[in-house]
Amino acid sequence: MKFIGAHVSASGGVANAAIRAAEINASAFALFTKNQRQWKAAALTPAAIDDFKRACDTHNFQPGQILPHDSYLINLGHPEQEALDKSREAFIDELQRCEQLGLTLLNFHPGSHLTKIPVDDCLARIAESINIALDKTAGVTAVIENTAGQGSNLGFRFEHLAAIIDGVEDKSRVGVCIDTCHAFAAGYDLRSAEACEQTFAEFGRVVGFNYLRGMHLNDAKSAFGSRVDRHHSLGEGNIGHEAFAWIMRDPRFDNIPMILETINPDIWAEEIAWLRAQQHAA
Ligand SMILES: [Zn+2]
Ligand SMILES: [Zn+2]
Repeated sequence: MKFIGAHVSASGGVANAAIRAAEINASAFALFTKNQRQWKAAALTPAAIDDFKRACDTHNFQPGQILPHDSYLINLGHPEQEALDKSREAFIDELQRCEQLGLTLLNFHPGSHLTKIPVDDCLARIAESINIALDKTAGVTAVIENTAGQGSNLGFRFEHLAAIIDGVEDKSRVGVCIDTCHAFAAGYDLRSAEACEQTFAEFGRVVGFNYLRGMHLNDAKSAFGSRVDRHHSLGEGNIGHEAFAWIMRDPRFDNIPMILETINPDIWAEEIAWLRAQQHAA
């Protein structure tokens, strides 16, 4: 079974994300459980939590079909202790919000070395941040997203993801989400079925499909290998339609949330319908 959806708005309350996902006929969705550009947010109220659970129930969304995304401010590999502590605290809060909502996954960008510490040190910090957070929470898996590698962001090589996983003590609560735009911008080709075979064979060797907990399905405005993160609607960018059709036909991507972060929400319903149709296309 393929779970397909989009990163929908949670404005007006987290329950609205489930309602908006249902409106575009999605079977998966992503959301921010707080404003993604602010450090602090009010705690989720019991009423907001109830509304969210009821909306998910009404529209048949199980926790495994929902992939919340954390705040963009968090840097779990920050080179400076004070800022690192602040990020770790905010990350624990994000995990706790997921726990409260009955969710089992939290998607996040690994972190940046800000050109102040070596790559390996930064990756070790990220793993330690995950260990600290998992120790203080229960039931939620930390889902590391690959990045385009803009600036000093790590996670643009599959080896980075593998190194972080290697440093996490509880392997049952760590996983990865592969963003197709980010992978392409980082130099993993997806422009043909053959290129997809090779890229995901490499993913399987370096990280392993047993760690795959979600996908972000985005075409790329940015060029191949450019390390620039610019999403595009499916088939309109430099990746093209074929990769997405290929992914939809491959059972290794079954039973995980597959989330559009494409740039035109007005066509999400069409994009979802198109993806669904590819599953059985020849
Ligand atoms: Zn992301
Ligand atoms: Zn993404």
